[in-house]
Amino acid sequence: MRHEQSHALFQQAQAHIPGGVNSPVRAFRGVGGEPVFFERGEGAHLWDVDGNRYIDYVASWGPMINGHNHPDVVRAVQEQAARSLGFGAPTAIEVEMADTLCRLVPSMDKVRMVSSGTEATMSAIRLARGYTGRDKLVKFEGCYHGHADSLLVKAGSGALTLGVPTSPGVPADLAQHTINLPYNDLAAVEACFAQFGYDIAAIIVEPIAGNMNCVPPERGFLEGLRAICDHYESVLIFDEVMTGFRVALGGAQALYGVTPDLTTLGKVVGGGLPVGAFGGRAEIMDYIAPLGPVYQAGTLSGNPVAMAAGLANLRLLEQRGVYEDLAEKTLALSEGMQTLAEAAGIPFRINVVPGMFGWFFTDQPKVSRYEEVMASNVDRFRRFFHGMLERGVYLAPSAFEAGFVSTVHSTADIDATLAAAEAVFANLE
Ligand code: PMP
Repeated sequence: MRHEQSHALFQQAQAHIPGGVNSPVRAFRGVGGEPVFFERGEGAHLWDVDGNRYIDYVASWGPMINGHNHPDVVRAVQEQAARSLGFGAPTAIEVEMADTLCRLVPSMDKVRMVSSGTEATMSAIRLARGYTGRDKLVKFEGCYHGHADSLLVKAGSGALTLGVPTSPGVPADLAQHTINLPYNDLAAVEACFAQFGYDIAAIIVEPIAGNMNCVPPERGFLEGLRAICDHYESVLIFDEVMTGFRVALGGAQALYGVTPDLTTLGKVVGGGLPVGAFGGRAEIMDYIAPLGPVYQAGTLSGNPVAMAAGLANLRLLEQRGVYEDLAEKTLALSEGMQTLAEAAGIPFRINVVPGMFGWFFTDQPKVSRYEEVMASNVDRFRRFFHGMLERGVYLAPSAFEAGFVSTVHSTADIDATLAAAEAVFANLE
């Protein structure tokens, strides 16, 4: 496979774009080599600027759950664009979006649209702090919630210390209000609340972690978080930017039957355009401006073209049987990988939920903790990634990102992916 045009564009990009990319993971630092520049997508397939074709398991990091260039989504965008690109004033289509989201997501009475997942989580956290009158925030190691200051924080030394910044530019004074705890470790959360409980505004959690590869919650973890938040009157925020409308129509909260106070959304809800949302209990949501004192706003929030794309995406997902089919495909692909790895004598573990998968080069019996993810063989993943890329399979360029299956991946796509993997496994060191 030749990558001359991609190489030339990457050289040009680095002149005026820091690192040549507009978001760091795209730079292939996690896997080495140079990023592929894409030109066109259709269904489950991508074409790069050199004319190479790939089966895509990145799905623009989630939004393209119905495949690239779905005709319904494209038509909805074109029709809306012909009327107006936006007004910065109320429109019927944003009301339709709010009604749709509150119908589909069980815990949402009210919702506000924003333009990215980062904005959604940042706003939800400010709202939770304003509503409770508390400053501290609990998050989990290995979860990613966007790049707002309060979230770019790691645990200080010792189990129950306050957070320290992970990025220059984040004030230590702010970071100290964030407490980082181990995912899937309810005892750590209980101990933390015993010490700080009545100062904690909120717990924010990915109900299925998708930013340390894919790590589902252990039984009782989400239920336990709910009980702790009830006891200490803290706000439980489910960050469903990735899992919303991906693992079930009602998100992970519907899949596991646990009800958060606030939910953040992104990705699928924008159909590929820049959209996020946060919503939840009316009593909390009414605390934001203009009804309440917590300020939050956006020039492009609820943009009609973005709403049209998102609504078209959601309508497709409301059709009967979509998630059953997605779940079956995700499992067939991952179990196929497991079988091939075993046959090749390669230690390999899979985590699978509908539409999302995690593949780990490891011989540990399970991967449900951050340390277990970090202990997987990243060098082997790098070689695997490049082997698959050369055979026309585009995976996320990092060992720590979940993979996505879309509704339009065919049996032939999955078979071709498994055939590529078999060839790569045969020579994988
Ligand atoms: N939350 C989660 C769970 C995410 O996966 C992401 C992005 N991958 C974000 C928040 C941030 O969203 P965005 O990149 O749109 O700001």
